[in-house]
Amino acid sequence: MIELSERKIDTEMNYIKTDRRYVAIAGAGAVGMSYAFSLLCRSACDKLCIIDTDRSRAEGEASDLNHGVAFAESNMRISAGTYESAADADILAICAGAAQRDGENRLSLMQRNAVVVRGVIRDALNAGFRGILLVVTNPVDIMTRVALDASGFPPERVIGSGTTLDTARLRHLLGDYFGVDPRNIHAYVMGEHGDSEFIPWSQAMIGTKPILDVCDDNPAQFRYEDIINIGEDVRQAAQKIIAAKGSTCYGIGMAMTRITRAIFGDENSILTVSAFLRGEYGQHGVCAGSPCIVGRTGIKSKVRLTLQEYELKLMDESCRLLKNAARTLQGV
Ligand code: NAD
Repeated sequence: MIELSERKIDTEMNYIKTDRRYVAIAGAGAVGMSYAFSLLCRSACDKLCIIDTDRSRAEGEASDLNHGVAFAESNMRISAGTYESAADADILAICAGAAQRDGENRLSLMQRNAVVVRGVIRDALNAGFRGILLVVTNPVDIMTRVALDASGFPPERVIGSGTTLDTARLRHLLGDYFGVDPRNIHAYVMGEHGDSEFIPWSQAMIGTKPILDVCDDNPAQFRYEDIINIGEDVRQAAQKIIAAKGSTCYGIGMAMTRITRAIFGDENSILTVSAFLRGEYGQHGVCAGSPCIVGRTGIKSKVRLTLQEYELKLMDESCRLLKNAARTLQGV
């Protein structure tokens, strides 16, 4: 039975190949389990291993989720496990660590979560894990850099969730405002997933028309101030949710599933993940949200947007903040 579920007949039906999409999650908290639930609902992987320092929590979550498999369009195999049992996973999602408290800045989480992320990577590497790291623990850009350094993996295999969720929020709000399907809104949130993130409005399009031109052409209907306010709403969205319910989890779980599907489907999708920058936008040695092409091998390449001078300055300020914060981690 199990053997059969791991096999898939390709579309031409002329040969059978093994096709087992295996995800391991470190951290069975609100984010890790929202991701797991979303993976199950979307049949986004075939095998799932849930790891937590609180083993009984991981086991409880695995059982709870397993009871849903009968209702899912998926034959997913779900278990609580260890880094040893997850050694051959394709993706290790790092959701372990403390979450933001109400009013707390993401950067202040940094010291304690860096220790957690390094520990997860040490244990995963010792067990033989060699897949793709998907980092979500906050502050996510700095934790992505910590994961890159701790793993020694090539940067294309260390992906932070970055501003993927912020970009989705932005497209949704702009879609509402302009009355256009968000899938036809092309706009990105870049830089830190946090207070210094910014929107390069010069690159924001409805279809192929710049949003700034749409505002210029229809001043009675669409106002530049409104879209700036939308950008502000996006920046403050997480804090508002945290103030209301203590933490955010569903949106990020869905965003992680989106990244996972891009990887397993070799989709070459453009997603604003946190990627190690090597000269793009004049930035070196920092992980920050920027549009990247994501597929089976991870970050295949980056889309170099032609930013305006003032937008490059915003990127520089955001990256400078991340670099300065990361420097304070030395010796932790
Ligand atoms: P949570 O407190 O609900 O869960 C954290 C889990 O991690 C707990 O179950 C804990 O036992 C486990 N854990 C701690 N240390 C561990 C270790 N060394 N190995 C394995 N498991 C360990 O927190 P949450 O709400 O799920 O948030 C998790 C992280 O995700 C936080 O850092 C939060 O800030 C971050 N987050 C990121 C985004 C984003 O957009 N990047 C969005 C929301 C939350």
